[in-house]
Amino acid sequence: MSFRIGIGFDVHRFVEGRPLYLGGVEIPHERGLLGHSDADVLLHAVIDAALGAAGVGDIGELFPDSDPRYKGVRSTLLFDEAMRRLRDAGWRVVNCDAVIVCEEPKILPHRAAIRASLAGLLGVPEDAVMVKGKTSEKLGFTGRGEGVAAQAAVLLERR
Ligand code: MG
Repeated sequence: MSFRIGIGFDVHRFVEGRPLYLGGVEIPHERGLLGHSDADVLLHAVIDAALGAAGVGDIGELFPDSDPRYKGVRSTLLFDEAMRRLRDAGWRVVNCDAVIVCEEPKILPHRAAIRASLAGLLGVPEDAVMVKGKTSEKLGFTGRGEGVAAQAAVLLERR
């Protein structure tokens, strides 16, 4: 058996007038995240963890901000493309664990939906995906409610 592990991290800033997407799920909230795509900070961290484990680049390299094709695009489309590259490189996902850091919104009420969404995107059972919401105890940019950070780990095995 051959296994690989990867980690991912991402941050996006809160702004007025945009929807909030986390893990491919639209979360009801008064603000959304700013970005070239839909700014789904959790999907971006998971994509980077998966690409990193497979050794096939990173999100900024595959889907550059400067490319108008990715302006306003749903990150689920970027995710599907990243999964295709990972499969082409001979890997499949075993499991994913992730942390969302923000004071608001609370993640727990949305966790089941986010896990189901991520499991579908990754092609794994829901119990192979975990997502935790954490505050940063009012410290730093996440503590001041200026944005959301996400971290993820993805384990791959050879197909
Ligand atoms: Mg990002």
